[in-house]
Amino acid sequence: MSDCIFCKIANKEMDSEIVYEDENIIAFKDVNPQAPVHLLIIPKKHIESVMDFEDKDSELISKIFFVAQKLAQEFDVHESGFRIVNNCGKEGGQTVNHVHFHLLGKRSLTWPPG
Ligand code: C5P
Repeated sequence: MSDCIFCKIANKEMDSEIVYEDENIIAFKDVNPQAPVHLLIIPKKHIESVMDFEDKDSELISKIFFVAQKLAQEFDVHESGFRIVNNCGKEGGQTVNHVHFHLLGKRSLTWPPG
């Protein structure tokens, strides 16, 4: 999608601090971090939200969680704990319409989220 900022990040048309990349997935530091560790894990292909996942995406979805696991280890939050967040749709707080999973850690996170 030409006007999608996360497509631009995935295509390297926009700068970001990339922390992981493979053929189908890219992860980068959130520009407005809400915790000392705040990463975004996204599929490179444009999928608008969790509601747009299809059966054929199941391997991709599974891989995203394994990438989260790997990054949790690399960023040393695997023992202290961390949170994976997906905001879906307007009331879910989604502001970028390219599906993404936040990985937040290195601070004590409260519940429920706002
Ligand atoms: O879940 P939500 O859609 O609200 O999250 C979007 C996230 O993308 C925000 O945390 C925002 O800081 C981040 N962002 C970014 N780089 C951009 C634009 C947005 O890291 N260029």
